[in-house]
This record gives sequence, C-alpha cells and structure tokens, in this order.
Amino acid sequence: MEKDTVIQEAIDFNVGKKMPKMAICYDFDRTLSPDDMQTFTLIPSFGVDKNVFWHESDTLAEENLMDNNLAWMYELIKYSKFKGKSLRREYFKQIGADVQLYPGVETWFDNINAYARERGIEVEHYIISSGLKEIIEGSRIAPYITRVYASSYLYSADGIAEWPAQVVNYTTKTQFIFRIAKGYLEEYDARVNDSMPHDVRNVDYENIVYIGDSATDIPCMTLVKQKGGYSIGVYDPVSNNKKKVYQLFSDGRLNFYAPANYSEESPIFDYMKNVIDEIAAKEKQKSEQKKLGTTAEKFKKRATLEKILESASENLSEEERAIVRNMIDHIDDCGKKD
Ligand SMILES: [Mg+2]
Repeated sequence: MEKDTVIQEAIDFNVGKKMPKMAICYDFDRTLSPDDMQTFTLIPSFGVDKNVFWHESDTLAEENLMDNNLAWMYELIKYSKFKGKSLRREYFKQIGADVQLYPGVETWFDNINAYARERGIEVEHYIISSGLKEIIEGSRIAPYITRVYASSYLYSADGIAEWPAQVVNYTTKTQFIFRIAKGYLEEYDARVNDSMPHDVRNVDYENIVYIGDSATDIPCMTLVKQKGGYSIGVYDPVSNNKKKVYQLFSDGRLNFYAPANYSEESPIFDYMKNVIDEIAAKEKQKSEQKKLGTTAEKFKKRATLEKILESASENLSEEERAIVRNMIDHIDDCGKKD
C-alpha cells in the first residue's frame, strides 16, 4: 500500500477517538538555545567572563571529584555572596526571558501540535536539562512544556537559593524518560521503578522522541532508540559544526540529525512529521489488534461456557443451567462460534 494511503487511513481511524499520546523530550542548552543558559545574563551580572566562570567551575569539580553541575551550582552561590546579590527564584525566572532560542523554536510547538492533532495524536513536550529549572520556566517556551526536569535549588524561607534540590546529568537524565513513560512525573515518586504493562503506560516508549546535542544526552538517546523510539541529534546552524552529531550517528546513538532550526521548512520539522505519521499508523494497528484480541477472548469464553454446559449438564440444577445459558447469551455476537 502507498505510504500516503496508509497515513490517510490512520488519520481517519485515529481522529475523533481518545487520542493516543506521544512525547517529545528536549535537552535545552545548545539544543533549543545556542549557548549555556547561565551565560546570557547570570554570569555577566557577576562581572565575570563566561570562560573564566566555566574554567573555575570545571577546576573545582576536578579537584574535588565533584559532579560538574554541582560545581557550577556552588560557584553561582559563591559569586552571589561575594557580589552581595541574592539568588532568588524570581530572579532566575526573570532572566529566563533573556535566554536566546534557535530559529523556529517559538513556533515549533504550535506547529507540531497542530500537525499531530490532525492525525489523532496528542503531543506532550518535556525538557530534560542539566541547566537550571527556574531559568527554563522563565523562558518564552515554558507555556508549551508539560514538565521541566532540570537542576534546581532548594530555597530558604526568605526565597534565597542555598542548596541543590536536583542535579541532572548524563545517566540521571534517563530517569525522566521512565517517569514520562509511566506517568509518575513527580521527582520523588519511587514508583518509577515499578514494572508497568505497556497498555497502561502514560506514553509508550516507541512514541517517545529525544532531541539533544552532545555527550550528556547519550544515555537518553541510547535508551529511547533501544526501546523503539526516536533519537535526534542537532548541531548549531551558524557554526555548522557537525563533529558531535557525526560521532553520535556513527556510534549508533541517533535515528536522525539536523541543524537546530525548528522552522516549518527545516529538515527536523519534516522528519518530525514523518515520525508523527508513523506513530499514527502504529497506533491504528495497535487499536485494531486490541479489538481482534477482545473478539478472540469472547469466542474463547463462550466456547468454555458451552463446554461446561455440555459436559457437566447432568450435575447442574435447572437453575444453574439457566445461569450458564444466560452468561452465554450475554456474550455478544462477536463471541459466537464460527
Ligand atoms: Mg546540550
């Protein structure tokens, strides 16, 4: 069958029903934004060069065998005390508005949601970032995001950042893929480790897309791809440096790579439309298989009850036989023997 026919049939089938879900998960820095989010306003506000800041932070991590993210979180608090500027949640949110975004990011979510809705698919968007949650929540794309998973601070009673509440890096990023799939979204919910059958999941793994740019994304890319989902690598469209995506692709981490341009004419938009079409077709098949399974179950149940009635009839009272007959009659036509 032609691809277009398959897609049209999937659209006709899925639209108007309870919509199956897909999830698109995004790294933030250098995936949706061209630089680390701390570099636009926060680090310059301390009067320090961004390269000096990151060098100090990385050195602190190396010398103390620290997680790199815990190191920059510590450095921010250190600088804020040194400069007499309190780090408040509201301040982080406020500077989120200054974070630059790659071309097309601001229209991407509406465009993708509309394309998917026309095919009977609901899209949820998630951020999984090592950056700062509050800055992302202050950014212009926050209204489109179901949930932001990122590093964050614990705040004192008077609202000043004083301790890390969450730190997100490499393999810890994968925890959130499981949370999204199982629907246990709260960071503290230990049920994320429970086994869950696929038909009750929040989102099937094969309906998950992960978009990232670098080594910190490798565990998520690998996990999503291994579970039948889609991993996408992006590179800066200005520098056009594809070294990382070439490496990720040749190492088998990616299904696709493209420049970080999210406008309607971009390669990543085209690819995502293909992914949505494929998910719509798969959802149609899953739904039809479920229907066939239900019919087959009914047939089995009816045959079993008829066998009971036939073989044990003489041991049953008139009332018991009537009950079994009634049960058989209540299995609808689908369960009738061929
Ligand atoms: Mg990144």
